[in-house]
This record gives sequence, structure tokens and C-alpha cells, in this order.
Amino acid sequence: MNVKPILQTWGRVLTGRVPTLSIEITRECPLRCPGCYAYEDNHLGNAGLRSLSDFKGDELVRRVLEVVDENDPLHLSIVGGDPLVRYRELEILVPQLVTRGIHVQVVTSAFRPIPETWASLPNMTVTVSIDGLQADHDLRRKPATYEKILKNIVGQHVTVHCTITSAMVKRTGYLGEFLDFWTPNPAVKKVWMSIFTPQRGANPVECLSPTERTEVVRNLLELRKMYPKLDMPEGLVKEFLAPPSSPEKCVFARTTKTISADMKTVVKPCQFGGNPDCSQCGCIASMGLAAIGNYKLAGSLTAGDIFWASAAVGEAMQRAKNKFTGTREPRAPVNVLNVIE
Ligand code: SF4
Ligand code: SF4
Repeated sequence: MNVKPILQTWGRVLTGRVPTLSIEITRECPLRCPGCYAYEDNHLGNAGLRSLSDFKGDELVRRVLEVVDENDPLHLSIVGGDPLVRYRELEILVPQLVTRGIHVQVVTSAFRPIPETWASLPNMTVTVSIDGLQADHDLRRKPATYEKILKNIVGQHVTVHCTITSAMVKRTGYLGEFLDFWTPNPAVKKVWMSIFTPQRGANPVECLSPTERTEVVRNLLELRKMYPKLDMPEGLVKEFLAPPSSPEKCVFARTTKTISADMKTVVKPCQFGGNPDCSQCGCIASMGLAAIGNYKLAGSLTAGDIFWASAAVGEAMQRAKNKFTGTREPRAPVNVLNVIE
């Protein structure tokens, strides 16, 4: 596993800053997906995304660039709502963001065509959310049906992201059928799978039982050998069996800042907002970073040991700075590899 680039980005936590920014660019979405966390009443503490004011046109472009410049991320996820509701603004924004050296990811249901020019932009990923096989997906995600997605991704190289729900696990061979359908498509570069993450105390039908979760892990470990486009390393898949115990112990939550559609509300404790049940977390990004955190660098020293030490130092520095000076942290990240090489 090549953890060096990741550790380099984690160096930023020493300066009290995070490497990844996520912006809910709009409160609007033409879909009404069951289980959508953005529109839960507690997404923003005691309100949902629709309760915020948001921006359009030149003002949206200006405000997004301001937030990006202020946070100076290495990676930016543009989410929503559905970001393609604001496709005109994104056609202006995305090339400018990429030119700033930021890796940009747009997460969408692909309910409308993805701008053609994005296919040739470096450092640009379009992630398309697809909730299972056509019969299930079309029911959950109309008007972003299979038919629309297939049309709207032509000429692109998208990442397909499927959130596994209990209904999918109840049918043997479901995930294999999903991969049989999507991986031959030349517009699909890779496939990611998450597991549905509930809020604490909730028990929606999408939730997997512990036995189902174990079965999914076993299944994914087999499927990743059969489908090269299933871009899920073994270590990541195994993390689904032992998610971080709390947001404080989640490297993903600690390295990602999510800002909502008013360009000032911070979504806490992670992109799910509200009070997510970490013990049932199935977020692929969280599992990926947990796997890197558990990677052994030397002897019993893990990459996570370096991260948590850096985070503690970063927080202490930030607290001291806020208390005594109120000035901003230096912009240049500290390279944590200097600590271990
Ligand atoms: S497309 Fe995304 S934001 Fe829109 S309803 Fe579905 S899950 Fe929520
Ligand atoms: S990403 Fe998952 S583990 Fe991390 S804070 Fe959110 S729910 Fe908890």
C-alpha cells in the first residue's frame, strides 16, 4: 500500500487544517431518495438542508471560490442536493478549481448530462450514485433512472457508487449482477460500494444486520478479485467489520470539513450530519482512511499513530493560537514523513 501521499496530506493536521473540503453547493435536488441523509431534519443539527438559503449564478461562483481559497484544500467534493442543479455555475467553477491544483470530485445522480468538457479535465472525478439494479434503483431514484444515467454518462469516465442496503443482500448474487451490468460500460472507470449508514437510534429498512454485513464483506472480498473495476482494496473492505467507534476516532471525519449551501454552516460530525451511528458506518471513504490508519509503518507503529499524534499537536497549536493571537495558521503543510523517515 502506498501511504506516502496520504501521509503527506495528513501533515496539514499539524497546522490545524484539513486536507479535504466538501461543499453542499445547493439545497435543491429533483430526486426524493428514501434514506437521503441531507434532507433529514437533523442533518444540520436541528434542521435539514432545505431550510438553508443558497446561492445561484455569479454569486454562487464567487462564494465557492472564497470558501475554497479560505480553506485551501487538496481535495474538494462538490455535493448537494444534486450539484448538477447548478450545472451552469459548475461549468465555470470546475475548470478554475482544477487549475488551482485541487482534485475535484462532483457527486451526482446524473439526472442530466455531465458537461462534455469534464471528461478531459485532469484531477477531476464524477461520481454517480446508483442504488442497485434497475428495478430497485429506478424506484428509489427516479427521475435519475438507469435509462437517463446510461445516456448522460456517454463519453465520460465516471466512478459508480452504490450504497448497499439490506434488500440487496437478501438476494444471492445481487452485487455480482450489479457489477456485470456496470463494469463493461466504457464510461465507467471504477466502482465503489458503501454500506448504508443509519442515524443513531434509527432502524430504517436499508440497515444491514450484523450477519448481513459480514456476508457483504465476504462477498466483496471475492468480487474484487473477479472485477478489476471494483476499486476496493482488501484492507478497506475488512474495515467494514470494525468501523471507527466515534467521530473523534474517525480519520475521515477529522480530515474532511463539510460546508453547507449557505457557505457558512459546517456539517458535523461528518458529511452525514445529525447523529450518525458510527458502529454501523459503511462509508467507503471512512473505511479507506481507517485502513490506511491501521497500516503498519515500522514494527507496531501505524500510520494512524502518526495521524493521531499530529492531530493532537495541531489542535493544541490551534487552541494556543486562537487564545493568544487570533491570527491564521501558516499555509504551507508540514510533511509528517519528516517525522518518520
Ligand atoms: S440525489 Fe442525493 S441529495 Fe438528492 S435526494 Fe437523492 S440522496 Fe438526497
Ligand atoms: S464517517 Fe462514519 S465513522 Fe466517521 S464520523 Fe461519520 S458515521 Fe462516524
